[in-house]
Amino acid sequence: MPELPEVEVVRQGLEKILEDRPKLEKIELKRKDLRDPMPAKKLNTLIGEKVTHVERRAKYLLLWTNKGAMLSHLGMTGTWRVAPPGDERSHDHVYLHFSGNLRLAYRDPRRFGIFDFVSDPASHPRLVGLGPEPLGKDFTGESLWGSLRGKNVALKVAIMDQKVVVGVGNIYASEALFAAGIKPSLPAQKLSLDRAKILVKEIRRILKESIQKGGSSISDFAHASGESGYFQNTFKVYDREGEKCVRCGHTIRAKVIGGRNTYWCPSCQK
Ligand SMILES: [Zn+2]
Repeated sequence: MPELPEVEVVRQGLEKILEDRPKLEKIELKRKDLRDPMPAKKLNTLIGEKVTHVERRAKYLLLWTNKGAMLSHLGMTGTWRVAPPGDERSHDHVYLHFSGNLRLAYRDPRRFGIFDFVSDPASHPRLVGLGPEPLGKDFTGESLWGSLRGKNVALKVAIMDQKVVVGVGNIYASEALFAAGIKPSLPAQKLSLDRAKILVKEIRRILKESIQKGGSSISDFAHASGESGYFQNTFKVYDREGEKCVRCGHTIRAKVIGGRNTYWCPSCQK
């Protein structure tokens, strides 16, 4: 499943492909729905428009025109690619035809993705109520600390809550808590302001590093053969149960917290 850094790299890839601002000429939907219905009529109101910019909000991509946006979520297996004539593949569900013979294909074998129309993000059911962006200026130690007041759930569960901060998935939550030296099961409201500041710093650093690495690993995106992709990172604690901690040599432990596998070093994270 693509996490926020992967979606951000896809955004950068789409932005690059669309930098000459080609005109949207046709939206070809190969089926009626993905996870949600795809509203052909509304989407077709964008025909003739240029994509002015590509925005990412949480793990959603918004391809903006002056008349509204196409909303894309990659679900579990979604990818965007440049697909010249002849490059049709199974599980291609959407083709966007642009001027200049540019065609973008959305492929999604498991169909958990979303392709929808947005006029106003503030009223779209998938976008309302989302918390601050982890890389945005509204996400600070103070804001995180404030939003954890009165929360008794495990800290890891809290930072994966999209109302607290968006786009911190299971992997990055484990990694950030390890980097910050904080136990994942700590009751959220017990996090001190000082440690909240450290945690925010680590969340931002880890996401940024991952975006940078990912950007280089799928630089092929703009080429005909390139598919927007998923990158394999090396993790310090995630998925390393029973292995030695890279910092102290203690054995990494794992346990299910909030329904998700959680990894931590009992010596470094107290
Ligand atoms: Zn350790």
